[in-house]
Amino acid sequence: MVTATNLGFPRIGGKRELKKATESFWKGTTSEADLFNAGKSLRLKNWNVQKDAGITHIPVGDFSFYDHVLDMCALLGCVPKRYNWDGGKVDTATYFAMARGTDDAPAMEMTKWFNTNYHYIVPEFETVENLKLSTTKLFDEIKEAQALGITPRPVILGPLSFIGLGKIKSDTLSRDDILIALLPLYTQILQKLEALNVEWVQIDEPLLVTDICDGMRQAYRKIYGTLKSSTNVKILLATYFEELGENKDLAMNIDVHALHIDLKRGGTQLDYILQHLPRERTLSIGLVDGRNIWRTDLDVAITLAEKARESTGSSRLMIAPSCSMIHCPVDVSQETKCDSDIKEWLAFATQKIDEIAIITKALNEGRDSVAQELADNKAALDRRTTSTKIHNPDVKERISAITSPMYSRKAPYNARKDVQADIFKLPSFPTTTIGSFPQTKEIRQARAAYKKGSLSQDSYIAAMKKGIEHVVRYQESIDIDVLVHGEAERNDMVEYFGEQLDGFAFTQFGWVQSYGSRYVKPPIIFGDITRPKAMTVKWSSYAQSLTERPLKGMLTGPVTILFWSFIRDDQPLSETCRQIGLAIRDEVTDLENAGIKAIQIDEPAIREGLPIRKDDWAAYLKWAVECFKLSSCGVADKTQIHTHMCYSEFNDIIESIAALDADVISIETSRSQMELLDAFADYNYPNEIGPGVYDIHSPRIPAEGEMVALLNKACAVLKAQQIWVNPDCGLKTRSWDEVKPALEHMVSAAKKMRAARAKSQAA
Ligand code: GLN
Ligand code: ZN
Repeated sequence: MVTATNLGFPRIGGKRELKKATESFWKGTTSEADLFNAGKSLRLKNWNVQKDAGITHIPVGDFSFYDHVLDMCALLGCVPKRYNWDGGKVDTATYFAMARGTDDAPAMEMTKWFNTNYHYIVPEFETVENLKLSTTKLFDEIKEAQALGITPRPVILGPLSFIGLGKIKSDTLSRDDILIALLPLYTQILQKLEALNVEWVQIDEPLLVTDICDGMRQAYRKIYGTLKSSTNVKILLATYFEELGENKDLAMNIDVHALHIDLKRGGTQLDYILQHLPRERTLSIGLVDGRNIWRTDLDVAITLAEKARESTGSSRLMIAPSCSMIHCPVDVSQETKCDSDIKEWLAFATQKIDEIAIITKALNEGRDSVAQELADNKAALDRRTTSTKIHNPDVKERISAITSPMYSRKAPYNARKDVQADIFKLPSFPTTTIGSFPQTKEIRQARAAYKKGSLSQDSYIAAMKKGIEHVVRYQESIDIDVLVHGEAERNDMVEYFGEQLDGFAFTQFGWVQSYGSRYVKPPIIFGDITRPKAMTVKWSSYAQSLTERPLKGMLTGPVTILFWSFIRDDQPLSETCRQIGLAIRDEVTDLENAGIKAIQIDEPAIREGLPIRKDDWAAYLKWAVECFKLSSCGVADKTQIHTHMCYSEFNDIIESIAALDADVISIETSRSQMELLDAFADYNYPNEIGPGVYDIHSPRIPAEGEMVALLNKACAVLKAQQIWVNPDCGLKTRSWDEVKPALEHMVSAAKKMRAARAKSQAA
């Protein structure tokens, strides 16, 4: 028999129960017992959904109160010293201290889980001395599942990915030292599982889809040989997010019982794997997308599975999602306000579980046994393929009519610079901000009331205008050079545009975990994108009408809108991105025509889209840069294009950043003490740069002197005339009490720099 399996179910609950449970526990309004009970009922519900659907291998250990990598740190006793852990059981207080920090000890670092929007806690290796099994959560949950009649398939993160995703914090410690220390612990875990009568364990090794070195390859062979021989529990080695590429033979020959491969993002590897997979190995194929929200084409999936079965036979084949479903929302049936045509094209985790069961049943009992389900699936997909809601011939024609001059400014930067200098007449070290200003209670309330329908459009516009006027007057009063309108009308930099563009849909409950108790609800790009009317012009023009100083229009770039949404899967990403690029281009043109002289197009997500393997970077960067330029290059030379990026390591993509050819880029650098600028200096970056001079993510108010020091650092590597002065990101999360002194210090720092420069030029 072919087996129906799952690799992980969303832990947050269909109504965000986990968020409520953890946040109320943190506030102290509920007890630890309440928290644990909430966890228990979420697990029970999730397991039953899977069991009732007919999944035989149900993951246990995928549930976490914060993050599954943090759970591994706790399980293995990998707790940094600063949390004063006593070496006993890692308790709830220590666990959340690691996640969130305490007054005395900062939280552990967090970073993106491969190329998803999920953030994991980065393991820290300071010493190997304290490593030992230090929680019983996994084993308790296995017993809990068994008591409910669920056959658990525990899931843990494998040792090589655990180490590879972590940071070594000691000069005297090597990766091998850690591996030697961890191996016995993994063996103990497997022995405990065996004692609990567990048949299969899923060990995740996503590092296998990345570029790894020879030493790592050897380690894979050796470690898994040892693990396998230490237990009778069958090991499923899970890889996902990409194809195995160079590591195909390695992965197939790692001596375990089964290998999972992602066929959604690594579809081309199937033939090779079927030809070369050792005869004794079971193959788990990821046919249902664990990272997106579209209904699976069951016919295509079943055909692939049948092909796989010809090689493996039924008993050596498992049907699975491409990866854990923690990257997708819980249940589409909760969506009552969604357009019903679009809704039938969607499958969230609960529906995907059914799809896995249907595919498996079709294999085991024949397609006839699921004839009705297949007919429904086909009808819905046919309606999607031919829907006029998706396909807009005008958009397709516009895309095919794009010509190469549309991807570049009329004159090169050197010429534009002089034209702009004449118009803007800015001092050296010009000051500006990144766009948003504090979102006060009045602003939020007005927006919420307007959305609910309890505030009239006129009153809403009046409230926003009041906010804009306040921000403009304030910036004038402290003598900022290039002003912004403050983004009062925006709740979110992607949603705001998505709501006004055609081709986007929104959900009520489509939440996915970003990190800890922070969830996001990305818009869904389902169709060809058009801009029915201008989106920001009225706000920017109003703001500009209030002042003689130049005001920056403020837009989100195509690449960021793309990656912060669920993306349609029926055309290449680049195609969808180009459509957004054209819509933004129209907005840029409208702003220019309305007399806006500077326009900022934010692209904080440009680095996020980078493929996992370096070999694929160039192709991605090519279209990402093109889409940005498509959006920004429709203007005259006199119009100054700004862009903004944050949270990125730019060093390895500096060439592409330069290729964006924005007149001014503002970037996050203050936390790295301007280190980042070395890349710009080494590359001889030609255009203007605003290195963020203070960290807006902290409530701390920076002194003028600190910012002068950072600017002097910047002057050491860049030309003074290239440098702008700005914070490192938008100010919307800060209060006015924090923003005012910080910006005032920033303006006086810029003035100090100007005075010093004038003096040195005079001398
Ligand atoms: N313009 C946006 C703001 O100021 C930029 C936000 C971001 O970079 N994430 O809020
Ligand atoms: Zn930013």
